[in-house]
Amino acid sequence: MTQFHAGNCPSCHNGRLFLFRESDTGDVYGHCEECEQGYRSPGDIESNSGFLTLLNDSDAEWATEDEISRTVWANYQLFET
Ligand SMILES: [Zn+2]
Repeated sequence: MTQFHAGNCPSCHNGRLFLFRESDTGDVYGHCEECEQGYRSPGDIESNSGFLTLLNDSDAEWATEDEISRTVWANYQLFET
């Protein structure tokens, strides 16, 4: 399955922001593979206002291209792995 990421994390500048879909809400967010910061929108990345995903214990799955196309991420530059 294709996995999408939204480039590098603005917090640690090291990890990539992989897109996940939160099972409870259907929200798609970028999740840093290195520092566990989450970003709910491209604007949150630009303003570096993430949340700590470890505090949020709801289930999440890889976001699909179809799901992403219906969210705020649809027009953002994404990369496939
Ligand atoms: Zn990070």
